[in-house]
Amino acid sequence: MRTKRRFTPHPDKLAVGLCPDCGKATYRTRREAKRAARGMFPGVHHRPIPCGQRWHIELVRGESR
Ligand SMILES: [Zn+2]
Repeated sequence: MRTKRRFTPHPDKLAVGLCPDCGKATYRTRREAKRAARGMFPGVHHRPIPCGQRWHIELVRGESR
């Protein structure tokens, strides 16, 4: 049985670079984008948005109406 350590890399490290198209921070997976958003902006609602094969995060204002 392996012990699972709770290792959380710094959110900044999750970004793999900037998008050549829109200049946003780029993430490889939807999950990494989400995690990075949560790490960098706790309490602020972001959503992952796809951009080609990449993922970005987008600020969500006003969940409903
Ligand atoms: Zn993009």
